[in-house]
Amino acid sequence: MAFYPGALVTRVFSLPELESAPCDAPKAKVLIGEKAMELSACEEENFRLSDSARIPEGADRKTVRTICKQVLYRLLVRLCGHTLPWGTLTGIRPTKIARVMLSQGASEEEAVRYMEQEMLCSPEKTALSLEIARRELGLLNRLDYDGGYSIYLGIPFCPTTCAYCSFTSYPISRYAGQVDAYLDCLEKELNYTAQAFSSRKLNTIYFGGGTPTTLLPEQLNRLLSMITERFDLEFLREWTVEAGRPDSITAEKLAVLKQYPVSRISINPQTMKEETLRRIGRRHSVQQVIDAFRLARGMGFDNINMDMIVGLPDETAADVEHTLKQILELMPDSLTVHSLAVKRTARLNLNREEFEDSTSFNSLELMDLTAKYADRMNLHPYYLYRQKNMTGNLENVGYAASGKEGLYNILIMEEVQPIVALGAGAVTKGVWGDRIERCENVKDIDSYLARIDEMIDRKRKLFGN
Ligand code: SF4
Repeated sequence: MAFYPGALVTRVFSLPELESAPCDAPKAKVLIGEKAMELSACEEENFRLSDSARIPEGADRKTVRTICKQVLYRLLVRLCGHTLPWGTLTGIRPTKIARVMLSQGASEEEAVRYMEQEMLCSPEKTALSLEIARRELGLLNRLDYDGGYSIYLGIPFCPTTCAYCSFTSYPISRYAGQVDAYLDCLEKELNYTAQAFSSRKLNTIYFGGGTPTTLLPEQLNRLLSMITERFDLEFLREWTVEAGRPDSITAEKLAVLKQYPVSRISINPQTMKEETLRRIGRRHSVQQVIDAFRLARGMGFDNINMDMIVGLPDETAADVEHTLKQILELMPDSLTVHSLAVKRTARLNLNREEFEDSTSFNSLELMDLTAKYADRMNLHPYYLYRQKNMTGNLENVGYAASGKEGLYNILIMEEVQPIVALGAGAVTKGVWGDRIERCENVKDIDSYLARIDEMIDRKRKLFGN
């Protein structure tokens, strides 16, 4: 699928099916014999490529899979005439490989060899992974993450729904009457968390969603005080509140945040092109982004993140550079660059006809350009993740100034401590060494309100308390 974006890829499992399939139907056919594997792929009738590799005697499942992937990859490179920046890696956490290898005592050379020769990653992406892994290790070493935990709290309301959105988010205008009941449920979840995790250190808190700053100032105040009244914040290293949508930010709300030890906020332009903002349904202007950022800076927020997306409908390389130039003028403390990923539930996918004639463009060169601008802002890459269906099959990269990295982002990617997630659609993660288990809260607001006790019971069951 990475080689044929948007194409229907068919997997053929049984030999009879394989033999009867028309040559131009599936893009690849895999045959695995007792010890040897043979693989062929064809693009049209009478066009046939093949490759093979020997599977060593007694090879385990992982080795067989790696060999199969390498052969398939080599074949598709020949067929398509280009490589993939991340080689055969399809997971969402490519930097975890490098970080785990280094933390287990492997040398940098060994990590490079594994990523380039086994996973067939490009030298550039391997170097980026290593740079990030090194930085993550440095940051994690300064944190007692083993004995700690983090809280994610989701406010699933936004001023409007963005066209690419796949998060749990509902228009605040429709749910305004239920916000207080929603906060009551969060209070119940917080009561459980404070009691169940009283023996662990709370390291980071992340208020996301949705957009937490859609709450009224008094609701925001109630929510923040729920935290300070219940939790020991002695070991808290970071408290992020997403103020993502500039059309949800007011001086009064920022003043509420300032009364609490909120250390990091996010004000997200996504693009600095008015026309695109309108097209993707954000219903705020570029000027509102600039005003909200300057307001927050003026009020003393010294760790502000900005998110941008590469690959938005019909945006050209020049549009992306325009956005970067405008962000450079504001000098945020961190910048998160996303490659557009359209998920099944996003309006961009559901209302395909509306965006039928539009194009989505990203490339290695464009990601390099974002890296250059981040460097000009004195920001370095500190976390990276990938998603399915990303434009250009690239990655999302978080850049930050030294000391302004979002620790929660690293903790969620590297899966080294439990993250207790509260609110509709939030996914809690339990971590016991290599064993990772999750439990989910229901996404629908009415169901969340009605079934709050069940949501808490799911956590009790996961954590055994
Ligand atoms: S601001 Fe974020 S969460 Fe809200 S609708 Fe847009 S993409 Fe979704």
